[in-house]
Amino acid sequence: MNIRLTQIDGKLPNLALMKLSHFHKAQGDNIFFTERIHKDLFEPNYDLVLGSSIFKFSEKARQTFKRNFPLSFIAGTGTDSKTTVEELIGVDEYEYYDYDIYPNFKHSIGFTQRGCRLKCKFCVVPEKEGKNKNLNSIYNIWRPGTEKKIHLLDNDFFGQPNWQDVAQEIIDGNFKICLNQGINVRLIDEESCEYLSRMLIYLLKEYYIQLGIILKMEIFFFVELIC
Ligand code: SF4
Repeated sequence: MNIRLTQIDGKLPNLALMKLSHFHKAQGDNIFFTERIHKDLFEPNYDLVLGSSIFKFSEKARQTFKRNFPLSFIAGTGTDSKTTVEELIGVDEYEYYDYDIYPNFKHSIGFTQRGCRLKCKFCVVPEKEGKNKNLNSIYNIWRPGTEKKIHLLDNDFFGQPNWQDVAQEIIDGNFKICLNQGINVRLIDEESCEYLSRMLIYLLKEYYIQLGIILKMEIFFFVELIC
């Protein structure tokens, strides 16, 4: 089969498309990955056209894509579709990713957990992912042979049941991590702060911070103020 995988929005590597690419390549299918929502003049016809959209505000782009590829299927957090990659490919679990569709991305990306302890009204995470659960170890996310830099997409890292083990894995393995979605500062306590102070966090490229030390200082000053 000839398959077009389209990243309709988002700047980071799209894990759903990476999974689909990995799965279909393993079946012997030809994958054409693109961020273009228009059909090019000399583009061939495909057996299957799939699009992923993660932002609600991309409606215009989704409509344009649909006009160009009327038989396409679009899913992702920006859409009303609840279909998961696993449902699409007919398996219970699939944790394999094709990084070849993002040749310029040199690090590793993934989730150690899914779900969130909070239920902010505007957010799709509680409804889509439910209660906080563990998903992957850091070593499972890391691509051996690449720098030990992990781009984490976790929405509530410190809400997962055994976050201490995952944090220890990061510290012992000398990994540098980017907590792309941020952390729930309102729920940070002394213990998580202590672990954070030993984890090397990167924000953008080579800018590293010791987030825990900053938080510890803020908690200290806050306690000083209210005592
Ligand atoms: S804390 Fe973040 S992930 Fe959790 S419900 Fe609120 S917005 Fe969503």
